Amino acid sequence: MTVTLVPPARPTAATPAPGRPDPLGVLGVPGQVNLDHAASAPCARAAADAVAELLPWYASVHRGAGALSQRCTLAYERARQTVGDFFGARADDHVVFTRNTTDALNLLARALPAGTTVVTFAGEHHANLLPWPRGSVRLPVPESPGAAVRSLDAALAELRRGGVSGPPVLVAVTAASNVTGERWPVAELARAARRHGARIVVDAAQLAPHAPVDVADLDVDYLAVSGHKLYAPFGAGVLLGRADWLDEAPPYLAGGGATGHVGAATHDVRWATGPARHEGGTPNLLGAVALAAVCTALAEADRDALHAHEQRLLTRLRDGLAALPEVVELRAFAPDTPRVGIVSFVLAGRDSAEVAGYLAREHGIGVRDGLFCAHPLARRLLAEAATRSGRDDLPPTALRASLGLGSTRAEVDRLLAALAALR
Ligand code: PLP
Repeated sequence: MTVTLVPPARPTAATPAPGRPDPLGVLGVPGQVNLDHAASAPCARAAADAVAELLPWYASVHRGAGALSQRCTLAYERARQTVGDFFGARADDHVVFTRNTTDALNLLARALPAGTTVVTFAGEHHANLLPWPRGSVRLPVPESPGAAVRSLDAALAELRRGGVSGPPVLVAVTAASNVTGERWPVAELARAARRHGARIVVDAAQLAPHAPVDVADLDVDYLAVSGHKLYAPFGAGVLLGRADWLDEAPPYLAGGGATGHVGAATHDVRWATGPARHEGGTPNLLGAVALAAVCTALAEADRDALHAHEQRLLTRLRDGLAALPEVVELRAFAPDTPRVGIVSFVLAGRDSAEVAGYLAREHGIGVRDGLFCAHPLARRLLAEAATRSGRDDLPPTALRASLGLGSTRAEVDRLLAALAALR
């Protein structure tokens, strides 16, 4: 990855650009085109305001008797309630604040009952490939959403050959790919998991910023999300889901806040139950409150209208890319598979890092280049792209443009014009 020097700081803008439906008032720097929302979305004005309002009250959470502390504790627990409601948490689910999706999935991996087999696909982000224990089953990248369901069904039938009792099985899947934006059939995969008595965790890091996600509607057991991809600041994420495994597991971080009682003897400790068990140490109050503020703003927004706007931009972007003869898009499924506003592509005969550097330097456009923390998937899609296009000069890494609430048609056109100018 090339590092480009950040231009001198300029004032942030909360005024939406023309043609940008943006109920969250995302912050940005005038002149800079951010087409890298999938990595980290810009911060929402709602999040910044919530933090500013709480800052004068800044004090410890769950630890102090003073008025400031009481208010902070209340704000933290209200944030938990708001975030849980936003994602459809059931009455007996836990909503555990984490640092991000990676942290949430690692926490769940540590909470698995002994002997649990995890089944996942090779198309996952590293965060949903690497935390799982040895003996996990990694299914090949399927050719279509339907093939994903069939392949999972067959794998679970094999694992459950002796009946649905036996060691637990957890299915771990993404809701939308960070490489292709393609949506995965989460509800159908959840039904397959149920048929075989397995649980399912959904990595919603990329879907949550683009569409409503409700664990009860999807009938999934656990959900992991990152606040910084959802217009909140870095450092706040969530693991939401069934209480039993979480309450029985050793605490993710042993320390203050995670305990009920600690005696003088070395191992005389009773751990807390509930989310506190896995939130050892002083929690990230501002992150939780900012994330909750975004959830509230999104819950009030017309998400159908936002979705329609993003899909129009996405179509314009993909059509524009397809019109450039050197461009080959990366995709795992058919071109018309529903997807969020993410497109990965290569320019034949061009090094992707150099193209990304050129876009930043000469056009003020930020995109991502590389293998996007999904090496097995990205490598496979690059190989398929070479076969599909019949070109032998595709680079070994790709470019990714990703849209969000701040994106406009003018920005998409600027990227397309900049790529065309390369020729
Ligand atoms: N899952 C997906 C699909 C992602 O795109 C990402 C980040 O890009 C992650 C998980 C990890 O998110 P984080 O880096 O916030 O932990």
